[in-house]
Amino acid sequence: MTPSTDRNQTLFDRARELIPGGVNSPVRAFRAVGGTPRFVQRAQGASFWDANDKRYIDYIGSWGPMILGHGHPAVVEAVQRAVLEGFSYGAPTEREVELAQAIIDLVPSIEMVRLVSSGTEAAMSAMRLARGATGRSKLIKFEGCYHGHADALLVKAGSGLATFGNPTSAGVPPEVVQHTIVLEYNNIQQLEEAFARHGADLACLMIEPIAGNMNFVRASVPFMKRCRELCTQHGALLVFDEVMTGFRVALGGAQSVYAGLIPGFRPDLTVMGKVIGGGMPLAAFGGPRAIMEQLAPLGPVYQAGTLSGNPVATACGLATLQQIAKPGFFDGLGAKTRQLVDGLKSAAAAEGVPFSADCQGGMFGFFLLAELPQNYSQVMKSDSARFNVLFHGLLDRGIYIAPALYEAGFVSSAHTDEDIAQTVAAAREIFKGLEAR
Ligand code: PMP
Repeated sequence: MTPSTDRNQTLFDRARELIPGGVNSPVRAFRAVGGTPRFVQRAQGASFWDANDKRYIDYIGSWGPMILGHGHPAVVEAVQRAVLEGFSYGAPTEREVELAQAIIDLVPSIEMVRLVSSGTEAAMSAMRLARGATGRSKLIKFEGCYHGHADALLVKAGSGLATFGNPTSAGVPPEVVQHTIVLEYNNIQQLEEAFARHGADLACLMIEPIAGNMNFVRASVPFMKRCRELCTQHGALLVFDEVMTGFRVALGGAQSVYAGLIPGFRPDLTVMGKVIGGGMPLAAFGGPRAIMEQLAPLGPVYQAGTLSGNPVATACGLATLQQIAKPGFFDGLGAKTRQLVDGLKSAAAAEGVPFSADCQGGMFGFFLLAELPQNYSQVMKSDSARFNVLFHGLLDRGIYIAPALYEAGFVSSAHTDEDIAQTVAAAREIFKGLEAR
């Protein structure tokens, strides 16, 4: 295709004149992998079509929300019905009550929930609530975990161990992140040192229990157990950021997976997004009644939103949750994702390419590394040149994975055995070429 007939290129050229970098969220710009972003025209099931009408098998699914694939009939019908009743009222609706009930029924640690419009808002509000409820300022987060772009959470590790972090963005004054302590994921020693030094001042520890912003890194069971114990001991809140993992790795989220491994385990607060909106702007945070009642209008912690609990978004989210709560849904999704991961592992092994991969429910990750990494610095040792060859090889063959090696992948219930077989076969062809390089 010549540049003049490539509609993706034409649109990207135009977009770059009008929108910074041509995109409304940075990773869409293909900066890490190079090339022209695909402009999506429409999507159905496990596929989308770009501006040139080329079909792709979609392993991003809007970065997680599309767990049923695109255009699931029951969800489309619910949204269409909701649209006819009005887009937004700024007054409460029955569906907000129903969605709150559905979330509370599925996640035992949540007794009350507040709906917002993005994961960023949910994480930022949970952080404020943790600070308001404890009367403390400091918080722990982990290098490689992303909790949206609120200033105090946009922090990377500084030099040295157990350190206060540095802003990862211009425009974030150092004073704003002075209360944020950034530690290495899965490092129990650093965790213990941080609690020993700052325990009495810690409002919360925020963590992605399975870190999808490091592609796919699980918190080890001993590490998670220690996070829980130290938070309890020091009166800090354990905040699970399940924006990605919630209703995705299991019906009850990653916390249900850890509850199966650590008896009695539960976080204090949970941050949710993505799947609960089914592709519409909707997110939430929730936890025990006594903490949630600290929020306005009952308590002193202010939080609000013009479009919070939007009637169209709640219709979409409710219809999505109804589908995934059906018996056997996660067994089927988990088996399908496992089939993909096992297929990719065998393809790499057959071609002698160092490769590791993991999955839980409908979320997966893979690394061009012989061993699964445990933290951010190990993730970043994944071979980015080889990743780029794999990414573009798959893209050329009509398979769309995340355009960065530190992003997770998502399988939906709409992916077929043929989609997965086609993906594995394509990967094997590319792995073969990698070995010859
Ligand atoms: N937390 C996690 C774990 C996320 O993965 C993301 C987004 N990918 C966010 C928070 C922020 O969500 P949003 O992009 O909806 O603001």
